[in-house]
Amino acid sequence: MTPATSFEGKRVALFGLGGSGLATARALLAGGADVAAYDDNEKACERAQAAGLTITELKLADWSDFAALILSPGVPLTHPEPHWSVERARKAEIEIIGDIELFCRERAKLAPQASFVAITGTNGKSTTTALIAHLFRAFGRDVQLGGNIGTPILALEPPAPDRVHVIELSSFQIDLTPSLAPSVGVLLNLTPDHLDRHGTMADYAAIKQRCVTQADRAVVAIDDDYTRAIADRLRRAGKPLIRILTAHHELRDGIVVEGEQLIGRRRGQSIRIANLAGISSLRGRHNAQNAACAIAAIGELAHDRAHLQSALQTFPGLPHRMEEVGRRGRVLFINDSKATNADAAEKALSSFEPIYWIAGGKAKEGGIEPLRPLFPRIAGAYLIGAAANDFARTLEGSVAYDMCDTLDVAIDHAAHDAAESKAEEPVVLLSPACASYDQFTSFEKRGDRFRELARAYVKPRVSASGDAR
Ligand code: ADP
Repeated sequence: MTPATSFEGKRVALFGLGGSGLATARALLAGGADVAAYDDNEKACERAQAAGLTITELKLADWSDFAALILSPGVPLTHPEPHWSVERARKAEIEIIGDIELFCRERAKLAPQASFVAITGTNGKSTTTALIAHLFRAFGRDVQLGGNIGTPILALEPPAPDRVHVIELSSFQIDLTPSLAPSVGVLLNLTPDHLDRHGTMADYAAIKQRCVTQADRAVVAIDDDYTRAIADRLRRAGKPLIRILTAHHELRDGIVVEGEQLIGRRRGQSIRIANLAGISSLRGRHNAQNAACAIAAIGELAHDRAHLQSALQTFPGLPHRMEEVGRRGRVLFINDSKATNADAAEKALSSFEPIYWIAGGKAKEGGIEPLRPLFPRIAGAYLIGAAANDFARTLEGSVAYDMCDTLDVAIDHAAHDAAESKAEEPVVLLSPACASYDQFTSFEKRGDRFRELARAYVKPRVSASGDAR
């Protein structure tokens, strides 16, 4: 744990008692603060109490007592409207910050030069964060991995000169971190997302860019107009910057992607940095963007090309993101349950062919019409859940579909049809382009079920003589 000492001897309000809220409360208490903790959700309060925390009814409290409001990132700060605790804090004229800010203050105090790699973007944050941590570990570094992925930041070990913190940041977390100044800031991409919570795209981009503007070194993938504009501003301000470009190769300095090769550019000269061919956890152009950003983030370590290449090859990837479950004969089974919208499913559909596509669930706005250019890759669609009728209407006349209703039926039909394909590598792909909530409690549960069902197909059959076949 990292004790948060910046409010030692002071009383603070803490709102939001999910996983990161509890870790924050513990860190503040360990750092000598007096914590008045609360949540609107009664169950969360009960859980916190069971974990030994005292609950204070903040609505009734005297806010002039508090030095700060420590807010959970899921609680609205500005949009659609500020939460009541935010209104109370503003009235009391106290600062409103989150757990990442408490960490930054601790780092400034304990080890201001300690490596702190912060990663943000609309998509690919978790994959890139996990890959950076994996690379650092492969080079023998002491790595702490967390933030918006896995462990809350204050539950990690404290910053230290020989330790590197690799931290995924959401826009909500950045919004609560005024002194964010990582040693390396990574910005992957920006597309409209969470605008209900940020107002406009300009507001959203302004928050995200704070991950790189005060970084000692910025890594920015410039495939979209928003990140390109941010990189241009950094360059004009003379900030240390590595640019990544995957869409084409017109870049004098930075890293570009040519097929499956990552190529370094320096004053127009090219050097080969890494080869992603055959690395199943890093398939697709989106993963080339993630890998290029990760390589830029580890800095000089990447100069040992042989070591880098072998480290990339052992990256296991994350569950539910184009996760390779296994093969039966030539048929490959892929779990991409995290693809809860068409944008995400597009990445998987672009990465395989021919595809026996399991799709559907709780529909998102826009449906699968944007995926039409990829329909020729789809040998058959196996539709499940509430969106099935809608999806069938879009596929009509272009892709053969099978109304399966449930995942169990869909995988059975898809595996059967794929086995009959003459293609080199037919793929049974769960990439639903839908939320899971109509039939599952989460995308993880949906993916777990797919994996369990797929494993029944891929596990080696044992012959009478005991040989695995
Ligand atoms: P995040 O943590 O930002 O949600 P993940 O690494 O969990 O991102 O990936 C979620 C999904 O986003 C993946 O399944 C894939 O469809 C898509 N994705 C991953 N990396 C990128 C990228 N660099 N650009 C666009 N989409 C991506």
